[in-house]
Amino acid sequence: MECIFCQIIEGKIPSELVYESEKIVAFRDINPQAPVHILIVPRKHIEPMKGYELEDLEDLKDILKVAEEIAKKEGVFKTGFRLILNTGPDSGQEVAHLHMHLLGGKPLGRLIGG
Ligand code: 5GP
Ligand code: ZN
Repeated sequence: MECIFCQIIEGKIPSELVYESEKIVAFRDINPQAPVHILIVPRKHIEPMKGYELEDLEDLKDILKVAEEIAKKEGVFKTGFRLILNTGPDSGQEVAHLHMHLLGGKPLGRLIGG
């Protein structure tokens, strides 16, 4: 079965895009856990569980910078936000394709529970 985020990136599955560049795409989470909940993903299908190639770290750098930009655009840069990169079963990771969650718009508590 094809990766759901690859399908979103290719436009085969609709999503609410908030950012697009040559290497990175960001869209709103379908099941938001906060007023702002955005997923920032590389166009390249990178799987954190397989370990990063050196070149993948460039995408991670870009993702952090895009997160800052989106946080400003969404009005949460000053109030604060949380970035989450789930990896593996105990983290609850459901989608294998690397994605950074950006959450904000309300006090998030000390940890994400549940
Ligand atoms: P994970 O648990 O793997 O870190 O996060 C996967 C996230 O992708 C979840 O928060 C889930 O709500 C979101 N998600 C799963 N399928 C879709 C989809 O088809 N569209 C969008 N926009 N988000 C999705
Ligand atoms: Zn993928």
